[in-house]
Amino acid sequence: MHKNRESVGVVLDVDETLVLSVKRHYEVLTTLGKSLGWKNLPTFEQVLQMGGTHHAYGHYPRYAEINAEICAAEWFNRGLEVIPAAREAMDAIGSQVFFYLTTRPASMTRLTYEELLQAGFPDRPVIARPSSVPLKKTAEWKFSVLADQAQKLRNPLELIDDSVTTHLEIVRRRDRSVGTQLYAGAITPPHPTAVNWQEIVQRLGFLR
Ligand SMILES: [Mg+2]
Repeated sequence: MHKNRESVGVVLDVDETLVLSVKRHYEVLTTLGKSLGWKNLPTFEQVLQMGGTHHAYGHYPRYAEINAEICAAEWFNRGLEVIPAAREAMDAIGSQVFFYLTTRPASMTRLTYEELLQAGFPDRPVIARPSSVPLKKTAEWKFSVLADQAQKLRNPLELIDDSVTTHLEIVRRRDRSVGTQLYAGAITPPHPTAVNWQEIVQRLGFLR
């Protein structure tokens, strides 16, 4: 939190914060899993309860490889369902948004930018995960990008993200220029600090 600062720059995560990718993810993995002979495939409810596809399918053979291919596919990332409350929140906080920060592979940067624009989100740069950063290092990578950018832009930044791991990493770092708000998304496990979009808008109003 940066209560005494003049203005906080908002940084937005993409998947499960602005658009819903987990549903498509589940559908694709179910079809694929059946064709590959994966046994005891989870239901959509179970995927949500387990905190997303990595937890729900991680034990199946070649999941990591198959999943990386899916996430880097154009067809997978086009036309995803927008979270209405996130889109509405932009009317209030859109002008505060500095950039998007996503764990999608860097090859998806342009597509993600186009899709966000098309969905009515603010026209801002997209920073996606370079191939040198493994998926498991997403939280550390997001923090380092935020710290670098806050310094470069000479402005404190506040990340809105549905990942508890990323949220806790930012809290742990105690960097005064990097704040975090945990969005209670579809696969976010219950967490005492998780908030919905309305609450996020209210909080950012105080930080303005
Ligand atoms: Mg996310």
